Amino acid sequence: MMASCEQPGLMPIDEAKLRISALVKGLEHTESLQLVDALGRVLAQDLHSPINVPGFDNSAMDGYAFNWQDAVDMPFLTLVGKSFAGNPYLKALNKGECVRIMTGAALPKGADTVVMQENAALNGDELSFSKVPPKGNNIRLAGESIRQASLVIAKGKKLCAADIGLLSSLGCDEVSVYRKLKVAVFSTGDELLRTGEPYEPHKIYDGNRPAIIALLHKMQFEVIDLGIVPDKPQALREVFMQADALADCVISTGGVSVGEADFVKDILAERGQIDFWKLAIKPGKPLAFGRLPNSVFFGLPGNPVSAFVTFNQIAADALKQMSGEHVISVPTVSAICTEPLRKQPGRVDFQRGQWSVSDAGELQVSSTGAQGSGIFSSFINSNCYIVLERDRGSVKAGESVQIKLFDDSLT
Ligand code: AMP
Ligand code: MG
Repeated sequence: MMASCEQPGLMPIDEAKLRISALVKGLEHTESLQLVDALGRVLAQDLHSPINVPGFDNSAMDGYAFNWQDAVDMPFLTLVGKSFAGNPYLKALNKGECVRIMTGAALPKGADTVVMQENAALNGDELSFSKVPPKGNNIRLAGESIRQASLVIAKGKKLCAADIGLLSSLGCDEVSVYRKLKVAVFSTGDELLRTGEPYEPHKIYDGNRPAIIALLHKMQFEVIDLGIVPDKPQALREVFMQADALADCVISTGGVSVGEADFVKDILAERGQIDFWKLAIKPGKPLAFGRLPNSVFFGLPGNPVSAFVTFNQIAADALKQMSGEHVISVPTVSAICTEPLRKQPGRVDFQRGQWSVSDAGELQVSSTGAQGSGIFSSFINSNCYIVLERDRGSVKAGESVQIKLFDDSLT
């Protein structure tokens, strides 16, 4: 596909995301991992349960197990034994018999109901109730949590702690996951210094690359750090080729605007295919997206807030899709804005905010201060984006706004 360069007007971000999603492919390579090492990895197989959970009918309480009809028919039941978790009562109950049973212990054959010990009276070996409990009470039935052969976790799920627990309860100790997505990152700009280098006048420290790398690590990707690249076409050409040989996805920051030192788009067009969009998003208008011979490319803007926001709002879901993950976008929720916010209609604004709960129990949000695209300190103390719709103007204190809570890649 050739450049849909410089479309009139600004492209809505949802449209850009749809176009990107149609162009990127998920990983195919998988690896087998011990379950304990699979936290945060993306499942590459549908997992069906090899067993019923629970595997047998058992008691949900410490109490007595019996046959309900016997309890209705007879004045008392006779205690004949005990069933412990792991050590069941192995005989079947005869008419009028009951057993002492502990939580998790197997229900003996012939029993269908358990009474809590607090609701029964034992006199010698005679058990009686003030009121017979409902039939089937306090029983956990075989397979009520998970049925044998049912789908437990679908392919594409990023495994969380609860998934590890659930799979362990099925006896599963190895899972097939996608290999880690490899992402190469570099920053562009003659003005950039690496952290640790002595400060020089007219230069700035490179904040973008470390921030993007941190986000990528949080997403469990393999990062290839290609450093700082000067604003020279030949230097860019070389790093593009190196990145493309090593990674599934290449991310740069800077050099995508219309300045005289902005060569990223040209080199992308020369070495691959480019789409360049001016997006209806603030901060972060220019975004170069394209494909190199072996990889997908994102040219994020240079301003630190713009680079971070476009990564979160545009690139992150595409990377998840490439990693094999089933993508579920973070929803927005309504909150009362506690102070006025400045906004011009025309682009969706992703302001940095801090949500909290008011004394009245309502979700509220305040701004973290000046919102310029170079003011990265607006992220400090932020815990959400305030998402102001494209056509919306300034916001007055007390108005309702949409907020997007930071997901775990941002906290
Ligand atoms: P550019 O899009 O390359 O013109 O960059 C836009 C603005 O962001 C300029 O003020 C750059 O100095 C600044 N900038 C670019 N890259 C970085 C970076 N890696 N870290 C901090 N600021 C940057
Ligand atoms: Mg630059």
